[in-house]
Amino acid sequence: MSARLLLIGPPGAGKGTQAVRLSASLGVPAISTGDIFRENVRNETELGTKAKAFMDAGDNVPDSLTNDLVRDRLSQEDCAAGFLLDGYPRTTDQVRALDEFLAEHGTAMDVVIELVADPDVVVERLKKRALDQGRSDDDESVVRHRLEVYRQQTAPLIDLYDGRGMLAKVDGIGEIDEVTARISDALAARGILVAD
Ligand code: AMP
Repeated sequence: MSARLLLIGPPGAGKGTQAVRLSASLGVPAISTGDIFRENVRNETELGTKAKAFMDAGDNVPDSLTNDLVRDRLSQEDCAAGFLLDGYPRTTDQVRALDEFLAEHGTAMDVVIELVADPDVVVERLKKRALDQGRSDDDESVVRHRLEVYRQQTAPLIDLYDGRGMLAKVDGIGEIDEVTARISDALAARGILVAD
């Protein structure tokens, strides 16, 4: 079914894991700006070269680069009937750019899912991911910086979307299946049915 959703929450809250599952059951593409940036860094594209230093430091990539990237991606055919954004928007300027894009297409977000996770828990999860996946920005000091960037630049978006009546808060702590079920319930309460 058609759904325009976004997942917001601190690094390590499980957004990527849940996005992949939801995308499959809703039949809409999951769009992770972090994954797109990492792919560009791997392929040493011009965008990757520009983004790398920011990512390694745990800082946000500048809004102009990020907004252009998302505009291109959302303009592709497979996003016409909906999409699930993971890790975007992260700043008020990105919200403005997304609003503009959606307004141009006569549409709007349906639901913003906040995955709530305690900072101490996410630091532990990311330490484990650093060992499993070797992501260069999962080093503990970089993780702490990413959490601070989240607190300052991204957390304010939660109130903004809440003010629009779009926010669904979901506890992100627990087994992966449990969290998926909580998200499905929150979406069902807003009229978006997720297949099992
Ligand atoms: P993530 O995989 O979402 O944790 O993103 C990894 C890194 O990619 C972040 O620490 C940023 O450097 C960059 N990044 C991902 N999404 C965005 C975004 N929406 N705005 C700015 N930078 C981003």
